[in-house]
This record gives sequence, structure tokens and C-alpha cells, in this order.
Amino acid sequence: MSITVLGYAAQSNKAPLVPFHFERRDPRPDDVAIEILYCGVCHSDLHQARNDWGYSQYPLVPGHEIIGRVTAVGAEVNKFKPGDLVGVGCMVDSCRECSPCQHGLEQYCEQGFVQTYNGVDRHDHRPTFGGYSQSIVCTQDFVLRIPENLDVKSVAPLLCAGITTWSPLKHWGVTKGSKVAVIGLGGLGHMALKLAHALGAEVTLFTRSAAKEADARKLGAHHVVLSTDAGQMDAVKGKFSLIIDTVPYTHDINAYMSTLTLDGTLVFVGLVGKIEPTMDTTPMLFGRRSVAGSCIGGIAETQEMLDFCGEHNITADSEVIRMDEINDAFERLLKSDVKYRFVIDMKTLTA
Ligand code: NAP
Ligand code: ZN
Ligand code: ZN
Repeated sequence: MSITVLGYAAQSNKAPLVPFHFERRDPRPDDVAIEILYCGVCHSDLHQARNDWGYSQYPLVPGHEIIGRVTAVGAEVNKFKPGDLVGVGCMVDSCRECSPCQHGLEQYCEQGFVQTYNGVDRHDHRPTFGGYSQSIVCTQDFVLRIPENLDVKSVAPLLCAGITTWSPLKHWGVTKGSKVAVIGLGGLGHMALKLAHALGAEVTLFTRSAAKEADARKLGAHHVVLSTDAGQMDAVKGKFSLIIDTVPYTHDINAYMSTLTLDGTLVFVGLVGKIEPTMDTTPMLFGRRSVAGSCIGGIAETQEMLDFCGEHNITADSEVIRMDEINDAFERLLKSDVKYRFVIDMKTLTA
């Protein structure tokens, strides 16, 4: 049994997103059915709609920053009830048995986590479809509670942009007084500024866009460095214990490496692929510096981040769009023309 749902899908890597009907399963005993209110637009949605990562399956319904209300629950569901405000992020399942899963690190599941879209359900082996749609059905263990005091539309981006920057901040022990830098002021970057600031860090933004300086300061940056200005880059040598690099495409990281402290770490959260131009290891050896990567965050950690945001009243700066504006929004994302996250109002979704 299933119900027919309307969404927006890419039919190929060259095609724009268009209305698309598909089936959602009836809730299984541990499932929660959710009416989607808002869905954020992540640069990963664009990467996967266009098959930048080489494994996209079509039709592809993007969207993994999902906020909605519970409409129905399966017989065994004990964490949620109809009417609850909930979220679904980038994962809808994992094996739950491997060591990472047992340690709340479902994003590093040894069998691969089940992506909210462009994935395959572990039980019925059908493709998963994301949040650019009317509703979703998800096991309760991958559903998040949303603090009711937060602005509903602006909370959606926390489900990916929020957790993806929170997780490295926590893993690398950022606390009061830590010197943290963020590369790129887009969806992830602006959440990184807000979260690092709220954790008490001294926060610096590296940007190519001089025009973003005033916004960056409002979002929580204490300092802004224009990465295209060699003098400004020189002035911050040896300064940061952690750099979170959110840039989606390959870029020269060499100049950033010497801005790390002894034992400092640059963490990639944006680029999936090869670094060009080639990375020079010299700053790593003469400073014991590291280059690392980080993928979203676990379910418990995502709940911790949401609760922290509830306490500190942190949400994304969102520009609400209509569903039929999504193709234009993708083009604007490519031009870094977003302040600082598009969020789709699902009431505007029509065939
Ligand atoms: P976004 O909103 O488009 O922001 C990216 C920012 O990077 C831009 O605003 C721009 O900032 C900078 N930038 C863009 N192109 C650049 C280039 N060629 N060279 C240097 N800087 C550039 O994207 P997002 O939604 O934040 O996503 C960022 C990346 O993270 C994407 O690749 C996405 O797929 C990835 N992601 C990864 C995870 C994970 O689990 N690791 C989770 C979510 C997203 P300035 O104008 O300030 O320079
Ligand atoms: Zn994302
Ligand atoms: Zn696992």
C-alpha cells in the first residue's frame, strides 16, 4: 500500500526540476508520516540533480532539510505523535549494527547510510525521494524534534547546513576563546559563523566576496579576510586552530594551510573530489598541521545541535521561495547569490 505524492524532480542531469508524482509507502510499525512545511535548498541538492558526484539516479527528488508536522504514526512509534513539529535531515536509515552506528555516528555507517534522496530503502529496495515534496515517511529513529520556539521556515537549514558545521566544531573541541576560521559564506558558512560564535569562539571568515563583509560581522564573524588579498592572508599566518572549508568546488588551499596554528586542522566539508592545484605538504610537516574531512553528523548529535539552537535562538537566514522558483534558485546558488539559504515554502507546490 502507498499514497501518491507530488514533488519536484530532475529527470536527468541536464533537465530542470519539474512537477513529478510518485509513491510514498504507508507507515511501517516504526514509521512517522510527515506533512512537509518547508525544505531548505542545499548546494548538495544541486550537485546531485546535476550528477556532479557521478551516482545520481533519476528521477531525483532533492531535499534534505525538511521541516514538517507529523500526520500519522505506525503502531510501534513511541517518540512522536500527530501534530509534533519534526525534521528530517540527510539520512533516513542506516544498518544500526556496525560500530559507527552503535556509537551514534550513523553518517559513517559501514554499509553506508541511506540518503534521504538518491538512496535506496533497506527494506523495500525502492529509491528514496527527498523533501521537495508534499510529505515523507521515515523511521522514528531518524526523525528529529524541533524546538517550537524557533521560526519554522528558518529552522529547516539546521538539518544539513547546521549539523554539518556543528559536528566538526564539536569534534575538534571548539570552545570559548578557540580561534576558528570558516572559508566561504554560503549556507554552510553562515551557519558555521553563527554556531562558532555561540560556542564562544573568536571567529574569522575567509571570503572571495568583499561585499559580504558587513553581513559576515552580523552573522558572528569577529574578523573578515579577503582570500584574494595576499596581504590580508599574510596577516593571519599561524592564527587558527580549526578552519572549516565549505567551498563546493576545487580551489587552492595552500595559502590557508599556513594560517593554521601548530597542530591546527583544516576540515573539508564542501569539496567532494580531488584538490587542484596540488597540495603542498610543507606547512603540514613544519607545524604538524592536518587536513581532514567531515560528513554531516549523527542523529543524537543533530538533536543536540537543534536543542542548542533552541536555547540560543539560532536559525538560518533564509530567503523563502516558491517551489516553481527552484531552477532559478539553483542558478543563483552557482553564482553565490544567496543570503544565506533558500527555503521552499511547500504550500506553493502545485502540479
Ligand atoms: P553555497 O551556499 O553555495 O556556499 C558555498 C560558498 O563557497 C559560496 O557562497 C562562496 O562563498 C564559496 N565559493 C563558491 N564557489 C567557490 C569557488 N569556486 N572558489 C572559492 N569559493 C567558492 O553552498 P552550501 O550549501 O553551503 O554547500 C557547500 C558545500 O558543502 C557543497 O559542496 C555541498 O555539497 C557541501 N555539503 C557537504 C556536507 C557534508 O556532509 N560534508 C553537507 C552539506 C553540504 P564566498 O562568496 O564567501 O567566497
Ligand atoms: Zn545538504
Ligand atoms: Zn551501520
